[in-house]
Amino acid sequence: MSESKKLASASLESLYRIFTVPEAPDSTLGRIDQSISQNLAGFLQEHIVASERDLSDIEKDFADPQIPEQPTFVSDQIQFVLDKLVAQSVHISAPSFVGHMASALPYFMLPLSRIMMALNQNLVKVETSKAFTPMERQVVGMIHHLVYGRDKDFYTQWMHDRAHALGSFCSGGTIANLTALWAARNNVLAPTEGFAGLGQEGLVAGMQHYGYKGLAILVSERGHYSLGKAADILGIGRRSLIAIETDANNKIRTDLLAKKCDELAAANIKVMAIVGIAGASETGSIDPLDQMADIAQERGIHFHVDSAWGGPTLFSNTYRPLLKGIERADSVTLDAHKQLYVPMGAGICVFKEPSTLSSVEHHAEYIIRKGSKDLGSHTVEGSRPGMAILVHSGLHIIGRQGYELLIDQGISRARHFADMIRADKDFELISEPELNILTYRYVPQDIQTALESAPASLRTEVNEQLNLVTKRIQKTQRGLGRSFVSRTRLNPHHHNRNAVIVFRAVLANPLTTNQILQDMLAEQKEIAATPPIQALLKQVRNLFCGC
Ligand SMILES: *Cc1c(COP(=O)(O)O)cnc(C)c1O
Repeated sequence: MSESKKLASASLESLYRIFTVPEAPDSTLGRIDQSISQNLAGFLQEHIVASERDLSDIEKDFADPQIPEQPTFVSDQIQFVLDKLVAQSVHISAPSFVGHMASALPYFMLPLSRIMMALNQNLVKVETSKAFTPMERQVVGMIHHLVYGRDKDFYTQWMHDRAHALGSFCSGGTIANLTALWAARNNVLAPTEGFAGLGQEGLVAGMQHYGYKGLAILVSERGHYSLGKAADILGIGRRSLIAIETDANNKIRTDLLAKKCDELAAANIKVMAIVGIAGASETGSIDPLDQMADIAQERGIHFHVDSAWGGPTLFSNTYRPLLKGIERADSVTLDAHKQLYVPMGAGICVFKEPSTLSSVEHHAEYIIRKGSKDLGSHTVEGSRPGMAILVHSGLHIIGRQGYELLIDQGISRARHFADMIRADKDFELISEPELNILTYRYVPQDIQTALESAPASLRTEVNEQLNLVTKRIQKTQRGLGRSFVSRTRLNPHHHNRNAVIVFRAVLANPLTTNQILQDMLAEQKEIAATPPIQALLKQVRNLFCGC
């Protein structure tokens, strides 16, 4: 390999070649290309190494900051990618990996992604995207229709309207949330007599003009961390993102939400948005959106729903009612790279009213000119790929009915998994799966029983020790590489709001079976039976007897 490396030297001729000549079928890249197209699962199975190599060890393969002076042969670089990168990547699509929010991809996404890459359209303006612009507008319209279900005339009038956007297609839920809150903030400090608007004059001038002492965003304590970034970027500060306590089911306490709104109003702090969660990242729980909409509406506050995860539940006739009230939201976030099964890098934010997003409209002379249909006039991002083609294709190839089956199956799988956990006396279900996410932990039965009647201070101590057990089991299982659940920390009501570390399972991969879940629990019990975990458990038992 180092031998051939020496042979490569830069020439216009070889550069011309790499732009124009495809790799031969028997070259390294040609062979990979074929095996990926013919048998992706096999390729991943074969090349991703299960055993965990230490990250600090892997870093040695990526230690050189120098850009190579001389070119590397394609085959050498591809060999490096295979050995050092593919081998040490994460098997996201494995059906036994139920800890992530990204799962297996439908096969058609691969060739389609390739078409998208080859065309390399830029959605910032029509000049570089042509048909991709109306296509993306349609995708935004379809998601708008999924959420709001307005009539045909509404979409005829607005979907392709040059001066308006029903939403913004972006790289993910974070940017979608930021976009929604950006519009909300600018609408709160809108242009009026003697004030050109926040977008022109800035936050300080806006606050002075309107006489507010501060701005705030209210969300439950289960709010996604992207909201904190939005509060920071939008200049109101993370402390102005106010967390409202949740009930025993991880849903926002609307009584406390209403109270906080009124307290802030009395202190002359303007609530620029209330955020409802439809599928909390950690527990999958859904806020009482209808009640939140009432609270927002009564006070004239922008109501945003973060349904990055749970939005596609709207496809299901059975479970759609769980999201009742979402159609009253002023804006809604939905991640396409989660439950629409699109590759990473696709999120959408839609707005109930076509004029809401106008508060962030911007133009430039050489690009996104006023009066053009350029999508760049309503986005945070500038240049953007044609990812919408993948969403468009998913929506057509899978269809509403197909997505419904995926959603329904994930939720019933999660319920079944919850039953399995409940049936095993050595596991404790921490949060019920309202959607397809649940949390649990390993606690031997005798400890569970002792914990129930223990005084509060002892419970805290025991839970701290059990957290070490959960953490250790999760890390060990990840290291073994056969299956994976993630872990997070909750403050369950039934544990006096103690910090409790839990396993978090996300059941969105259609290839996951009940047997796989059974095996995963069995593996966790095997790990629990090993000396290091037993030693930790002994310490827990000692806490009870005070020895
Ligand atoms: C995933 C998620 C986000 C953030 O989305 P990214 O695509 O990771 O930027 C925001 N909110 C919720 C509820 C999510 O699940």
